Amino acid sequence: MKLAVVLPWLHRLLPPACPLCGGDFSVPAADPFCFRCMATVVPLPAAQCSCCALPFLASSTQDTHLCGRCIQDPPAYSATHAAALYEGALQTAIRHFKFHQRPNLDRPLARVLSTCLPASLDVDLLVPVPLHPARLRERTYNQAWLLARELGRQSSLPVSPDVLIKCRATEPQLTLSARQRRENLRGVFVVNRDVKGRKILLVDDVMTTGVTLDLCSQVLLAGGARRVEIGVVARAPLP
Ligand SMILES: [Zn+2]
Ligand SMILES: [Zn+2]
Repeated sequence: MKLAVVLPWLHRLLPPACPLCGGDFSVPAADPFCFRCMATVVPLPAAQCSCCALPFLASSTQDTHLCGRCIQDPPAYSATHAAALYEGALQTAIRHFKFHQRPNLDRPLARVLSTCLPASLDVDLLVPVPLHPARLRERTYNQAWLLARELGRQSSLPVSPDVLIKCRATEPQLTLSARQRRENLRGVFVVNRDVKGRKILLVDDVMTTGVTLDLCSQVLLAGGARRVEIGVVARAPLP
C-alpha cells in the first residue's frame, strides 16, 4: 500500500498532539493548547488601561482607567483587546509563529485572541499590521495576516490584507525605546485602499510599546476610517 494512503489513517490512530509542545492533547476541549501549556497562560488582569490595555500589575484594585502615557499622549486607536500577558507558553507560541516558521499556530493563536473580543465589538473590517515586502519574502508569511484571516473565518468579518502598506524596511525594534521606535517608523505606513467610514479592528500578534499600532491607526484615521480598535493575542507590560 502506498505511504500517501496509509499516513492519514496512521495519523488518526495516534493521539492528537498539542500544536505548541507536541504533548498529549487527547482532551482538547475548548482550549487551543494542552493543559500544561494553558497553565502558563495568564489572562490580562481586570486592572488595565482603558485605551491601550497596559496591565496594572501592581494595582490592588480592579479599576480600568487611562495609563499615564495615554493621558499625556493619547493614541489614535480608541480601545485595545488583548487576551493574555506576553509570557509563558503564549510568548513561546508567538515567537515560534513569528520567527521559527510555524504558520500552523495561526488557528490556536486566533482562538486565544477571539476570547478577548467582546460580544459588543462594533467593527466592519479586519486589517493586519503589514510587513515590508522584503521581510515578507524572507519569512514567506505575515503572521498578523494569518491571525486576521483566522479571525475573519470565525467572525465572518471581511479581511483586507492590503489596506495598509509598509513602504520602507526598518531595523528590528526590540532594543529601541518608544520615542526611538516612533522616529524609526515615521512615514513608514501608508493607506492603500479607501477606508472612508470603516470601523476597523487592527490585528497583530503582540503589543509592546504600542507605537507601531498607534502609527498604523493614525494613517487609517487620516485615510478616513471612522474608528480603529486593536486586537492582539498578547500584551507586554512596559519594559
Ligand atoms: Zn502543550
Ligand atoms: Zn494606556
